[in-house]
Amino acid sequence: MLDRIILHSDLIGLVDELAHKRRIIGPVVRDVPECDPPLRYFYEEVERADQLDLSFNYCVYSPKRYLTPPNETLFAFRREDSGFTATPEYDRRPTVLVGVHPCDLHAIRLYDRVFDLEFRDEHYFARREATMIIGLDCRAPCTDGVFCKDMGTNTIEEGFDVMLYPLGTDGDEGNIRYGVMFGTKAGREWLLYSRQSAVPTAADERAFEKYRAEKEAAFSFALHTRREDLPQLLGRSYDSLLWDATARRCYSCGSCNLSCPTCYCFNIAEETDLAPGSGRRQREWDGCLLPEFALVAGDHNFRAKAASRLRHRIYRKAAWVQERSGLVGCVGCARCDRACTAKINSVEIYNQLAEEV
Ligand code: SF4
Ligand code: SF4
Repeated sequence: MLDRIILHSDLIGLVDELAHKRRIIGPVVRDVPECDPPLRYFYEEVERADQLDLSFNYCVYSPKRYLTPPNETLFAFRREDSGFTATPEYDRRPTVLVGVHPCDLHAIRLYDRVFDLEFRDEHYFARREATMIIGLDCRAPCTDGVFCKDMGTNTIEEGFDVMLYPLGTDGDEGNIRYGVMFGTKAGREWLLYSRQSAVPTAADERAFEKYRAEKEAAFSFALHTRREDLPQLLGRSYDSLLWDATARRCYSCGSCNLSCPTCYCFNIAEETDLAPGSGRRQREWDGCLLPEFALVAGDHNFRAKAASRLRHRIYRKAAWVQERSGLVGCVGCARCDRACTAKINSVEIYNQLAEEV
């Protein structure tokens, strides 16, 4: 059941009002001439809501950098007569993420879980709690190669403040009529107080039913194995020759990790000031495909071979993360596959392993 109906023009007006209090992050189209096609979408900060393009297919990167940035200071430290003092740094800027697709919402749900598993990461939650999320459903696959239906991530019922379902256009060309579902009290209050939205009619509910049926038909499966069976498949594939054969093409560049909305590994480094006695503890993204990822003191590398790094990533995505968190470790967005210069493709890996077994 829908909670409300809102027109695109009214939504843009409301997001503009939010811009007085929050930074607005959403899909923006950019001309990238070296790409084919050259128009690409990126989540960026905007000053006005009409700079957003909610008709985007997919954003090259997910919005994860606005919740856990590539580099951040965890705390500053200083040596004093009585010992060291450490002053934590938290980013609590009020933010709204606009136009987050279901796969990326699943990835954010995973972050909410893993950053609170054994130890609550206050730096992550400072940003997360200051962030309002306006989700945007996809009527059809955003591009070729995605396997979100296989991973159960092309729809979502929670993890947003407000979710928009583009039901069709209303009168004027391009004025989309969104069905709205509330995910939180904050989302409900934001939209209801504005008085810009309407109560859904019986015709709206019928349009929503039709939308869901068309969406179900538009997405197809890409994997030859059910998601639930992937851990078992991998369990039998540890010694497969596929790891070596595929990794021969791998450049160990880590692009697959960096473009992935569910990769959350990071490195910690101390940065000291020129004057002795003070500095900062920094956190930065890391990637398990990078050769130094598993390098430890004594020059021992637990995964010195590209094949073992590739296998590690695939096991994490399809088995280990879910084992630990209870949520899927891969949302099937295929960003890793698109980012890979060597054209190493996750779906092909799973399907080849299924064939071998
Ligand atoms: S592993 Fe690839 S397909 Fe899965 S979530 Fe990460 S980028 Fe998307
Ligand atoms: S993006 Fe491709 S080439 Fe680069 S590390 Fe990942 S699998 Fe290897």
